[in-house]
Amino acid sequence: MSKEDIIKNVLQVLEIPTLSKTGKSVPNLILLGYRKAGWSAGGASKFTKKHCSNKPSQVKLLTYVLGLVDMKYCAKCDRILELEEFSNNSVKLDAKATYCKSCMKNIQDSNYNRLVDRAIRRFNV
Ligand SMILES: [Zn+2]
Repeated sequence: MSKEDIIKNVLQVLEIPTLSKTGKSVPNLILLGYRKAGWSAGGASKFTKKHCSNKPSQVKLLTYVLGLVDMKYCAKCDRILELEEFSNNSVKLDAKATYCKSCMKNIQDSNYNRLVDRAIRRFNV
């Protein structure tokens, strides 16, 4: 399922319209931001205030909407995943890691390999 389809389903569950009154795509607004989605700043802010009135201003619309259905976007693999695919991280606003578990593992593996390579080069082991 594409990210757009997932967002459409989530909007339906939350009973948020998928099109603005002037026919602009709400999934695009959420995924691309108002400029790239062709929304005016005023229109986007009006829509958000009306349909997502509890969204804190520092939280992105994508993060907020997905959080309502226990999902999260991983910017590393560019996928929308269930919240349980992310490790806990109490430092973060949503108490979840930025990247999903499989991306975090790749990062840790490549860090490990980098350190091993460096040790081999330095100490000729
Ligand atoms: Zn990921």
